[in-house]
Amino acid sequence: MKEKYIKTDVLVIGGGGAGLRAAIEAASYNGVKTCAVSKSIMGSGNTRMSTGNFCVAIDPPDSTEIHFADTIRGGAYINNQKLARTIIENGPEQLMALERYGSLFRRGGEFLDRLEGEARGGHSHPRGRGPIGEGLGIIRTLSTEAIRLGIESFEETMVTRLLLDKKGNVAGATAIDIRDGTFLVFNARAVILAAGGGGQIYLYSTNSTLNTGDGYALAYRAGAELIDMEMVQFMPFCFAYPGSQKGRMLGEAGHYGPKAKLLNKEGERFMAKYDPKRLERATRDIVSRSIFLEIIEGRGTDHNAVWLDNREGREGLGFFKDRYPIMYKRSRDFYGLEAAEWLNSFEVMPAVHYFMGGVRVENYRSNIERLYVIGENAGGAHGGNRLGGNSMLELMVSGALAGREAARASKELDLPALENGQIRSEKDRITRLLTGEDKGEDPYKVVEKIKKLSWEKAGLVRNGKALREGIEEIEGLREKMGEISLSNRSLTYNLELKAALEAENMLDVSAMVFRSALTRRESRGAHYRSDFPKRNDAEWLKNIIVFMDEGKMKIKSGDVELTYLRPEEMD
Ligand SMILES: Cc1cc2nc3c(=O)[nH]c(=O)nc-3n(C[C@H](O)[C@H](O)[C@H](O)COP(=O)(O)OP(=O)(O)OC[C@H]3O[C@@H](n4cnc5c(N)ncnc54)[C@H](O)[C@@H]3O)c2cc1C
Repeated sequence: MKEKYIKTDVLVIGGGGAGLRAAIEAASYNGVKTCAVSKSIMGSGNTRMSTGNFCVAIDPPDSTEIHFADTIRGGAYINNQKLARTIIENGPEQLMALERYGSLFRRGGEFLDRLEGEARGGHSHPRGRGPIGEGLGIIRTLSTEAIRLGIESFEETMVTRLLLDKKGNVAGATAIDIRDGTFLVFNARAVILAAGGGGQIYLYSTNSTLNTGDGYALAYRAGAELIDMEMVQFMPFCFAYPGSQKGRMLGEAGHYGPKAKLLNKEGERFMAKYDPKRLERATRDIVSRSIFLEIIEGRGTDHNAVWLDNREGREGLGFFKDRYPIMYKRSRDFYGLEAAEWLNSFEVMPAVHYFMGGVRVENYRSNIERLYVIGENAGGAHGGNRLGGNSMLELMVSGALAGREAARASKELDLPALENGQIRSEKDRITRLLTGEDKGEDPYKVVEKIKKLSWEKAGLVRNGKALREGIEEIEGLREKMGEISLSNRSLTYNLELKAALEAENMLDVSAMVFRSALTRRESRGAHYRSDFPKRNDAEWLKNIIVFMDEGKMKIKSGDVELTYLRPEEMD
């Protein structure tokens, strides 16, 4: 296996929206050398697939205070309020930065002088700003700017381990170039982790196949703390069939206009039972859980779904086609023209969409010195449930902030010394997979089992018994994983090797979700326990924190810092 050493000031791990934004900011800082690494091409990941909706409060009577209160209420009061305030206050500047780089958000008003605002579940004002070209448009803009700045990029390169110096500060990372198997060692003054979320640990997800939670596992193994990993968001409307599309996104009520109705197989508008005031416009956690409950109680369709009926809302179809061309075309291709044109109702089911949990940060700095974590990889800003359009906001603000801070810090720091032992042991781990005796489980099968397990036992409705069983099954899989060696020994485009490395990450992430979910003995936000169905502020106005201690996963909890708002003032 060839080896290559690269020295840089700032290393960015992840080439999605957050990573690109951070790399641009760092590289713009007075001669700072910036390298960006992506498991696929630059620009890959969820940002590229998103509708790009970006929430900012700029039209009175809306205000940043109201946006902040909506975000905390939506997050069921366990948000890191300082982070939430940071992203909301800096959002308008970062939306304008995107326009400076070349993106364009939709305008309206008499002189096309106002940014249009769309409604989104849980937001009390229409503040979702739609970029032309959706998420792909944003990614194209950021990628072009990164190329213009001459950022050195490493594509199809999977980071496998964060490296620490003698003092335990981050010093770089190892990676494998999937194209030819070169083992890369990055030595950096500062590292920004932006490897996205972990939706792929679940069977059905709206996420890109790259989102296997690598960033969470890398940070965890390096000694970072992770927060509220039990908080996994489901998108309420997703394809229920065909198999290849199951779980792909069809959106939420905000995308379909005020007349969209959800019906069970008996034709009942069931949201009236679960959230009589907001109905289908309730937050994603409530709508997703309500759909799921209808299905498991036997009122679902033959495809284990419910009906989305928007026949009365057809005046909004032109708007929908214009704003969400990908969702429109996909529903036309897979559900047929009548469904796509809202002449008939069509089937929808919830699927995993977003991780509110992630690496615990203050101002996007982790507890490991010089390691910044941003975008969906970071946890805390959204608490127990993220509002639509608040992720685009976070990835742009956190990217800009961490990029600038990392660049500034790198100017004042010496290049940290790498520890050879860590590099050797990581290379040995990969070599063992490629040269060991051919035994143990097929990594693709391990991946399949993790997905099924997470879906069935840590999904929309959880209970202590299933969670405990899940934890045992994960440990069983981990033992089998330890024996894996691969049937494909090639160094060229070895996707089996990539799958095995991902499977190890997914096991850690799944264990974090299960253990955190078992610890939180209440229901809050996206986390619903049928054995503890009520929110319990007296005992659980807390964050659940996962970390590694002497090689073992440990859990603790800490009181939420109610920096600005308290639940009793808001409910
Ligand atoms: C279908 C869909 C629609 C959405 N619509 C919206 C919306 O309208 N508004 C909104 O606010 N949010 C939306 N979201 C959520 C939002 O898109 C994501 O939360 C956000 O894009 C995450 O950005 P990111 O940069 O953190 O991660 P990503 O964009 O997912 O990028 C992750 C990057 O990390 C890289 N990577 C992963 N592992 C490794 C590794 N081991 N080594 C090297 N690189 C690695 C990947 O290659 C990728 O480049 C949507 C999500 C989906 C899936």
